[in-house]
Amino acid sequence: MSRFHWTCESTDGAARAGMLHTAHGPVATPTFMPVGTVGTVKAMTMDAVRSTGAGIVLGNTYHLMLRPGAARVRALGGLHRFMDWSGPILTDSGGFQVMSLGALRRLDQDGVTFRSHIDGSEHRLTPESSTGIQHDLDATITMCFDECPALPAPPEAIAASMRLSMRWAARSREAYVQRTGYGQFGIVQGGTETDLRAESVKALTDIGFEGYAIGGLAVGEGQELMFATLDSTTPIMPTDKPRYLMGVGTPDDLLGSVQRGVDMFDCVMPTRAGRTARAYTERGTLNLRNARHATDARPISPHCDCLACTRHSRAYLHHLFRANEILGPMLLTWHNIAYYQRLMRQIRQAIVDKNLDATAARMRAEWAAQDWTEDEMPQPLIPPIP
Ligand SMILES: [Zn+2]
Repeated sequence: MSRFHWTCESTDGAARAGMLHTAHGPVATPTFMPVGTVGTVKAMTMDAVRSTGAGIVLGNTYHLMLRPGAARVRALGGLHRFMDWSGPILTDSGGFQVMSLGALRRLDQDGVTFRSHIDGSEHRLTPESSTGIQHDLDATITMCFDECPALPAPPEAIAASMRLSMRWAARSREAYVQRTGYGQFGIVQGGTETDLRAESVKALTDIGFEGYAIGGLAVGEGQELMFATLDSTTPIMPTDKPRYLMGVGTPDDLLGSVQRGVDMFDCVMPTRAGRTARAYTERGTLNLRNARHATDARPISPHCDCLACTRHSRAYLHHLFRANEILGPMLLTWHNIAYYQRLMRQIRQAIVDKNLDATAARMRAEWAAQDWTEDEMPQPLIPPIP
């Protein structure tokens, strides 16, 4: 079984193309991890997720501890068996969800007590219990339990929160059971304050983890400030460990963050957009509910090999959403995840070819361009019924 480690295969500027080696197989980086919060990538079968080329998916401690419970998942063979995903799984620690979803939370130095958003029952998460739950789930990558302050907050509050999270990171590491091929990531906090981020990186690298995440961004600070924070943070992070930017983002966010040295991402955007008729394409986004798609026999994208694009027209997708048919969200989620995976493959290839900046400029120009014209994509491209 492979030791958990990350190897760098190629660099272009600050961007890195590498390979993450885990007990559940390798993952090419940079990588986008579809979000499987409750043990399912919403509206997708696992075969569909696999068909997009996704190498690793997310699960969530907060949601799974409340329902169905970590002990039950463990008794049923762990999260991989439970959700039928043999590849690596990263589990979020629950810290962010306790803050955003848990009602009547009480934070103390030891942990957080909160009420379930499902039935109001009282629960408690500490660095030790979060790490234990992720162990029961059999997460390939365990995240440290951290505290996520609501923003905006004054620098003193951000500093106090970051230092609490660093003490919790040490306790999470203490509680973590080392296994071959498994890893635990520390989470760099500190808001958009350069010196606090540096203090956090130092605290985490002193403890020592298999990878390092950047938390507390994409919470409303805007892309410019997020990129500025990455510009000062990634250069002081270890060069031989994977870097994971949590909860990000749009295709342009991913591209700009890879250019700043980030290797791993997760975000609900492509799955959530897929349930609300919004499609990501090489030419920006489309709203399939829009009347202009009602008679359009073309696929969403001429470059996509997903089921929505190879077998169905925009007009059919439009019809499914107008009729509130469940197949609409299923097909469009599939398409969006396929797009995100294709994007990451193209970005990775550009790093290997050492032309990421030119590729990025071309991608950004295309996102800003209009939909494909009739000349660029004559209709119909949908193949006949077999
Ligand atoms: Zn597609």
